[in-house]
Amino acid sequence: MEFKVEIGPQFEGERVRKDDLYIEFGGPKVRSKGELVTVREMDEIEHDKITILGPDIPDLEEGGSYQIGTLVEVAGAELDKDMEPVFERKIHIYSNYIEGFMHLGQRNDIWMRVSKDAVKKGLTTLKEVGKVLSYLYTSELPIIEKVAITYITDPQKLEEFISTCLAVYKERDERVRGMTEESVDEFYGCTLCQSFAPTHVCIITPERIGLCGAISWFDGRAASRIDPLGPFFPVEKGELLDENLVVYSGVNDVVDERSMGESSVYSLHSIFENPHTSCGCFEGIAFYIPEVDGIGILSRNFNGESVIGVPFSTMAGELSGGKQIEGYLGIGIEYLRSPKFLQAEGGLRRIVWMPREIKERVKDDIPEDIFDKIATEEDAKDIDALIEFLNRVEHPVMSGEFA
Ligand code: SF4
Ligand code: ZN
Repeated sequence: MEFKVEIGPQFEGERVRKDDLYIEFGGPKVRSKGELVTVREMDEIEHDKITILGPDIPDLEEGGSYQIGTLVEVAGAELDKDMEPVFERKIHIYSNYIEGFMHLGQRNDIWMRVSKDAVKKGLTTLKEVGKVLSYLYTSELPIIEKVAITYITDPQKLEEFISTCLAVYKERDERVRGMTEESVDEFYGCTLCQSFAPTHVCIITPERIGLCGAISWFDGRAASRIDPLGPFFPVEKGELLDENLVVYSGVNDVVDERSMGESSVYSLHSIFENPHTSCGCFEGIAFYIPEVDGIGILSRNFNGESVIGVPFSTMAGELSGGKQIEGYLGIGIEYLRSPKFLQAEGGLRRIVWMPREIKERVKDDIPEDIFDKIATEEDAKDIDALIEFLNRVEHPVMSGEFA
């Protein structure tokens, strides 16, 4: 296969910075974006067909940010729907194999950049990107026999596509709700993000989604079966060493080995003691606010400064990279719904601030008596205002009664 630019894992960690940027799709400046993998019947798709619905790179202005949807349809005799999220995560990996092309994020939170150099070399259409993905899907995953890729930039078609995506993501997240860590024998690990954060290991349990927010326990299981030598693997729980922090001997062994000794103990549900590491693609951040002895939540989608005066990007820069950092935790937003969410620290009762959008999103899982006591950007923009707010609503952190 001949492509206009080079492809291979050597380009995985490559960033496309502002000065070198030709065009971007998705990202914080545009509202509508998303990606989805759907399993089809063999006769439903035409292999290697790449379709662009709406304007393509040559029709768009250099330097601009544009909305986009990516639909990857796959078929194969042995495929089943359980595998969709796993294949979907591969969009991230394979896109980053392309020289001069960068992909960040997942689901409806994606960001793609094309560099000026790549355009000079001939990466002048999304079709070329699709061609590479199509080639990698079938050559790297023999279980996939056919693949068809569609990029959607047309505003109306994109809206329809995004609403389909949201319904699918919701269904996936709901599937695992109600399952517990105690009810399964195995967790799953993922080291997919080691290309960016070489010592990072995600441990995925029924009560703790991968911190990109895209990989649930079911997805970890499907992935480790599809590709036993790949980045997903089963983790024997072993012995429960600490019930409050949730430390398992089997998890520790795996983390020690796969992080190359960087981390040897993981508390699955604590932000303070041996917290889980963070790579770089977490959907949100939980951060300790010492002034009020509470915890704040920040999401990647939140434009603006957090209550402690720093935006997501700054905080993300500090905690990413695969190290354990007490008081900071990269999280999938779905984790906020987990009954074990930071249980060692008092869980949701310890949360003092989060963006309004997130509060709305997880509304049903926040205990009623605490809901109005959690400040958003509308209630408090800085620490002084936060203290005033928490005192006024008598938030449990102010009396230390959050346990
Ligand atoms: Fe895997 Fe975790 Fe990276 Fe998601 S954030 S791809 S679960 S390592
Ligand atoms: Zn990551």
